[in-house]
Amino acid sequence: MNSFPQTLTLAGTDSGGGAGIMADLKTMEARHVFGTAVVVAVTAQNTLGVQKSLMLPIDMINAQCASLAADFQIKACKTGMLGDKEHVLAVANNLRQYDFGPLTVDPVMVAKGGAILLEEDAIKTMITELFPLATILTPNLLEAEKIVGQTIDTPSDFKRAAQMMQQMGAKNIVIKGGHKVGEKVQDYVLLANGHEQWLSAPRIDTKRTHGTGDTLSACITAELAKGHSIIQALQIAKNYISQAIAQTIQVGHGHGPLNHWA
Ligand code: PLP
Repeated sequence: MNSFPQTLTLAGTDSGGGAGIMADLKTMEARHVFGTAVVVAVTAQNTLGVQKSLMLPIDMINAQCASLAADFQIKACKTGMLGDKEHVLAVANNLRQYDFGPLTVDPVMVAKGGAILLEEDAIKTMITELFPLATILTPNLLEAEKIVGQTIDTPSDFKRAAQMMQQMGAKNIVIKGGHKVGEKVQDYVLLANGHEQWLSAPRIDTKRTHGTGDTLSACITAELAKGHSIIQALQIAKNYISQAIAQTIQVGHGHGPLNHWA
């Protein structure tokens, strides 16, 4: 009873099915864990971009968390689009109140199409409230630069930035290198015990990458729920995302979505 790996995403929806909670749940399904979701924001969105978004009332965030805590044994969770200061705080409060297992924080800020998914003045709140709760933090290069306030280019820049994020309270860090140019996409990993590693995959020349950040963090969450170590979860997630990008499907007229059956 209640032993099948159960996971949770606290994030925003994507009506287009390619990113946010929809990508998270599809990934969890594909990775054979049970996915639950706390909807923090609703977006009217397709592969062309975000047309409109709505933040849910805080008491509705609290009610969703209470419902899950009363019935499920969540083994790992993740956060995605949190929108603004108040919602970052509300999510952090709930994560302090309930044990939803190791937390993957995907510090989502701006969609590839340019839509703001986290207000600028909420970044500080995210750092102070959420980072200390994070088992693993998964910024892309642009998010990492915003968080540490520095340009990240050389390997030593990656290391310094990851160390700064550890000083902010996050235990394990992966800085995704997808926004850099080069033949390979290289992600820099710094674990809580000081172990560092680069995860490498060939760069695939495609614009169909909508929802890659969500998918990677959801896959890490799924693998942590199964009991894998951080580094195992990261390696599985890196392979999964590479396949999902490589074996693209044609849906919509814009970016993505990914192929979760790849
Ligand atoms: N919409 C939502 C609700 C998201 O959570 C995210 C990413 O986290 C996006 C859109 C952006 O996806 P992308 O930048 O991959 O297009």
